[in-house]
Amino acid sequence: MRAWSERVRQDGARIAFVPTMGYFHEGHLALMRKAKELADKLVVSIFVNPIQFGPQEDFAAYPRDLNRDARLAEEIGVDVLFVPEAQKMYPSGFQTYVEVSELSKPLCGARRPGHFRGVATVCLKLFNIVKPHLAVFGLKDYQQFLVIRRLVEDLNLGIEIVGHPIVREEDGLAMSSRNTYLSPEERKSATCLYKALCLAQEKVKEGAREAPPLKKEIEAFILSYPYTRIDYVEFCHPETLEPVKEISSPTLLALAVFVGRARLIDNALIKPL
Ligand code: AMP
Repeated sequence: MRAWSERVRQDGARIAFVPTMGYFHEGHLALMRKAKELADKLVVSIFVNPIQFGPQEDFAAYPRDLNRDARLAEEIGVDVLFVPEAQKMYPSGFQTYVEVSELSKPLCGARRPGHFRGVATVCLKLFNIVKPHLAVFGLKDYQQFLVIRRLVEDLNLGIEIVGHPIVREEDGLAMSSRNTYLSPEERKSATCLYKALCLAQEKVKEGAREAPPLKKEIEAFILSYPYTRIDYVEFCHPETLEPVKEISSPTLLALAVFVGRARLIDNALIKPL
């Protein structure tokens, strides 16, 4: 991988990179198409990163289908599909981690201790191996996008980080490899995340400005759907992720909701008129 990248760079070509955990859906493919537009060569990685999963999380169950992914990547015109082995990424003796301290604390960071340390560490490793000029990240994982953008800035990596809008199913459900965990009944309930975001936007358009009562209303709305359990519903500043009490400027509404055993996340920038 390194030799290929060095050669391509020497030829003066620009490399775009899309890191993934595989089991591609239309969201991944949209990122790849975007990345292809922005550079001469496209590298996509598939790596289900063990160090970003907690001990009780779904690392073992995470869906994998390398043959199908390879076929889809080829159709898109991916130049290199990089699929490192966990043993190669974390050989015995591995002990260096990187942490983006403040942005990693709230939201998913609070619920998944060590998650963003794992994400930042693996992305730094992948960036060092792939040596991209730019990398595309989905805004579905909004906090991850901010963490990586900060990492790149703070450690002078000189990689352009491009955010891609959330790709959704027809009924609004954000695409995710984890949607495969949903039973047909749970799949119906899972639309409540997107509907909750729309409800919040509507209420704010109608003049609601105080976040705490709106948050309560949104939680009640989500819980009115069967199989749901709220992990968090938070209004926060879209750059710092600090909690917001008064929605007087564009505010991020971030959701994490268990539907059955699937932990789903979604978010939207809620704009007062
Ligand atoms: P994952 O394989 O889930 O780690 O995702 C790999 C990349 O695809 C990350 O940058 C995600 O944010 C992005 N991604 C996943 N699902 C979506 C989606 N529905 N819309 C946009 N980007 C997504």
